[in-house]
Amino acid sequence: MAYELIASEIDKNKTRFIERLREAVEIPSVSAEAAYRNEVFRMTDWTQANMEKLGIKCRQIENGIEDRPDGSKLRLPPILFGHLGEDKSKKTLLVYGHLDVQPADIHDGWNTEPFKLIEIDGKLFGRGSSDDKGPVIAWLNAIETMQALNIEIPVNIKFVFEGMEESGSTGLDEILEQHKEEFLADVDWTCISDNYWLGKEKPCLTYGLRGLCYYAVEISAPKQDLHSGVYGGTIYEPMNDLVWILSRLTDLKGNILVDGINELVAPLTEDELKLYDQIEFDVEAYKQDVGVKTLTVDDKKKVLMNRWRYPTLSIHGIEGAFHGPGAKTVIPAKVVGKLSIRIVPNMEPEQTDALVVAFLNKLWKERGSPNKFRAIPFHSGRPWVADFNHPHYQAGARALEKVYGVKPDFTREGGSIPVTLTFQNLTGKSVMLLPIGACDDMAHSQNEKINVFNYIEGTKALAAYLLELAHI
Ligand SMILES: [Zn+2]
Repeated sequence: MAYELIASEIDKNKTRFIERLREAVEIPSVSAEAAYRNEVFRMTDWTQANMEKLGIKCRQIENGIEDRPDGSKLRLPPILFGHLGEDKSKKTLLVYGHLDVQPADIHDGWNTEPFKLIEIDGKLFGRGSSDDKGPVIAWLNAIETMQALNIEIPVNIKFVFEGMEESGSTGLDEILEQHKEEFLADVDWTCISDNYWLGKEKPCLTYGLRGLCYYAVEISAPKQDLHSGVYGGTIYEPMNDLVWILSRLTDLKGNILVDGINELVAPLTEDELKLYDQIEFDVEAYKQDVGVKTLTVDDKKKVLMNRWRYPTLSIHGIEGAFHGPGAKTVIPAKVVGKLSIRIVPNMEPEQTDALVVAFLNKLWKERGSPNKFRAIPFHSGRPWVADFNHPHYQAGARALEKVYGVKPDFTREGGSIPVTLTFQNLTGKSVMLLPIGACDDMAHSQNEKINVFNYIEGTKALAAYLLELAHI
């Protein structure tokens, strides 16, 4: 009953909610560009003002100074903490979102002004409409609606909104760590709405993300680049060594050949396999989207598992190699191959690094080249996986079914959202990703949009989820 009232009230306020999103999109809060940094502060203040109207107690946590790559210094946007309800008899939900956006310029191929919200055919175009201003504002819309109807929100809610997510969440982990015993101490669940549905029609809950280990393979010999017509045939060429090595890391189908890596992967469980049966995913459409006729695996489950629950190794580039147009006959003196492995449970970055470096060294020995060789692990991030049978996920699934009339898919994603793992570690409690946008929202790309349907039904979904939390 409460849900039906909320849903119809949200429908009635559709225009106003779109106007609220419009205000937010018109603040160009690009975190990566110094010229826009003040706009991130403005966006933080705007959000705080909107939260305070709902009685959410807010405070801005100073985040210090950023050292820019060009040597300049820039003040970091504060982290916005919010707190609604302090009823000791209730449990506490933590909501995370981000207020900054990716850069956008109409000359990059946008069909509309990126920092205006333009509605075309039921789609709201504008930078940040889906990533992540739409979801952040949907939370506020949901709370406002419940308050307007005098429907009790059955949990206390805490908010963490940051302004540097698109620039590596600088400073966030430290601040969260500092507030672990205070602000985060009584959190019972965390919900993040900052990813997307697997498709365009069916909602999902996301319970896993892959981590990443990045490597450089450096090979050098002569003191400078050489002419192949003059020196070719007399020296051991670093590029030949590197290409030989890189070609031995995977087989044709992308299976990783590094000794011991596949043995680290958590075995597939029966429960997990069942989830894949139900997932709605069209392999043919996927092929069309990426523009290939053949995939390394053809069956739906295998395609998804390779994207989500198995490690993959990709070669990204070669620093120092000739890469321009034309036919330069150079022998590069020093080349650095860049590769990464998307890691999954139970691969630990330290273990993975050790295996990869040992394997590269083994190959190098086999190669027998007299050149200089170094295998260097760069940065890494751990994978995240949650228990999708947890009551928190069941509550999320009930909420989505109520709104959309279908049971949601349980998905993972192949990429990373590092803060997810931070919240899981700091609170020790269930973290769930509850996306509201569709797979074609073009986050980070030109012509980002959120469908009016996704924004409005998403607002309902978050309200329905708040109601369901009463039953855990
Ligand atoms: Zn985002």
